[in-house]
Amino acid sequence: MEKNETTNKSGYLLDTAETKIALDKIATDVTATDALVEEAFEHLKSVFVRHFRSAMLEAGQYLIEKFYNGDYNLATEKKFNKNESLLQLFKKIQGDNTGNVPGKTWLYDSINLAIDERKYCKVSAYGKLGHSHKVKLTNTGNLPEDTKVSLIEEAAEKEYSVSTLQERISQEKQKLDGITVSLTEELKPEILKTLDFEKLTTIRIQTQARLLKAAIEKALYEGNLKRIHQALKSAEKKDKKQNKVAKVVGFQEWTESKNNVNICTGCSNDCKYCYAKSMAYKFKQVQEGQWANETIREKDVDKKYKLYAGRVGFPTSHDITPTNVDAYIQALEKLLDAGNEILIVSKPNLECIKKICDVTSDYKDDILFRFSIGSSNDGILHFWDTNAPLYEERKESLKYAFDNGFQTSVSMEPLLDSANVVTAATDLVPYVTDFIWIGKMNHINPLKKKAKENNDSPLLEQIDVIESGQTDEKIKAIYAEFQSSPDLFKKLKWKDSFKKVLGIEPPKEPGMDI
Ligand code: SF4
Repeated sequence: MEKNETTNKSGYLLDTAETKIALDKIATDVTATDALVEEAFEHLKSVFVRHFRSAMLEAGQYLIEKFYNGDYNLATEKKFNKNESLLQLFKKIQGDNTGNVPGKTWLYDSINLAIDERKYCKVSAYGKLGHSHKVKLTNTGNLPEDTKVSLIEEAAEKEYSVSTLQERISQEKQKLDGITVSLTEELKPEILKTLDFEKLTTIRIQTQARLLKAAIEKALYEGNLKRIHQALKSAEKKDKKQNKVAKVVGFQEWTESKNNVNICTGCSNDCKYCYAKSMAYKFKQVQEGQWANETIREKDVDKKYKLYAGRVGFPTSHDITPTNVDAYIQALEKLLDAGNEILIVSKPNLECIKKICDVTSDYKDDILFRFSIGSSNDGILHFWDTNAPLYEERKESLKYAFDNGFQTSVSMEPLLDSANVVTAATDLVPYVTDFIWIGKMNHINPLKKKAKENNDSPLLEQIDVIESGQTDEKIKAIYAEFQSSPDLFKKLKWKDSFKKVLGIEPPKEPGMDI
């Protein structure tokens, strides 16, 4: 740090001028605080002396007058317990719920204070003591008078605080007991041996009482600890739940899973990377190798469809093919009639798209087509997407929907030909009203594992091509290349796999389509 610099409380650097201003301000604050404390202290003291002290003395004098007929000697004997009327007064006070009368201890102290005020009126040191000191001196127990007077003089001379005076009273009381025993410290046998039967019995009772109190407290604390532990566990769970940011990936980026509708099991396109297929095989919903045999689920075609909250993805785990298109349209019309907005994702078959466009022409605003076109190269498309339509048919479908006034978008996920992605996007973008999405091929490892098990060299080779086309460097290069064509760049959206590499914030919730 430079010589003319210093840091403030937050650790930020301040130059010399700023430091001076800060220090001046602190000094001003301290002075202001001192003055405030002093003023409040003096004010409270005067209120206390004016009201509290004279009230206590007046109450004590009144009680002696009323209940001891003004006989201070009788009152000095402290036969409170034998004074029936005084006991009744205390009982009444205890039962009072107005909160406007003093407590029993305060009244005892007031009587004792009145006695002391009269008794020590000739001891000049007593007059120098404060009210609280005097109240402390009313509780000196069996201390001899000369000891109490000595304490009064000592306190006045040495200007004891109230707590110091209390300490001195305790010390004198202990001297009177003959031995100092602290129950909160280990009692040494040699000390205990010096105590008589009565003293030992007393400290045994006191110790038992402390032990009982400690046991009750221990049980309370143990119970509380258990309860705190339980509360901590649920607070932790709640906290985790609140802080958990749902990972939005795959189709969820476009629509919420609960809004997905499908009417078919299996898909004749039989793409090699198909995630729906791998899941269906894993959970034995479809026999291995049978994915291409589509089965229309009539109950899903025939059922009633409600209005969903948010855009509906239909289909999401199969495609629209000549085999199922009529069934698809039946369900689609019901969804549209119910007021839903539909995202139609497909590797489009031109005839199917024409049919859909023709029957839904009244719902153009409620439909967004998203055609999957991972490459403009037919060889690549045929390899990966097996039986799906080739490039020109997909492009024609896009053009048809666009020309007929539908909302259109393209998905280049998985990106199958990263080397030519800009060319393909440039070719397609004139027919896109919405966006072109670009994303990696996901779930490559299970695909690779299977290819190795089957000694499927062509698949392994193509997986290599895909992997080398979606490294971080390649993704950044693709992004940079698109940036150099601003009009095209504006029409792009990036799937989660690209966002991660590009440092783009993921969507906070599913279905945001951003
Ligand atoms: S079109 Fe979609 S659902 Fe059909 S096989 Fe290909 S990836 Fe799977």
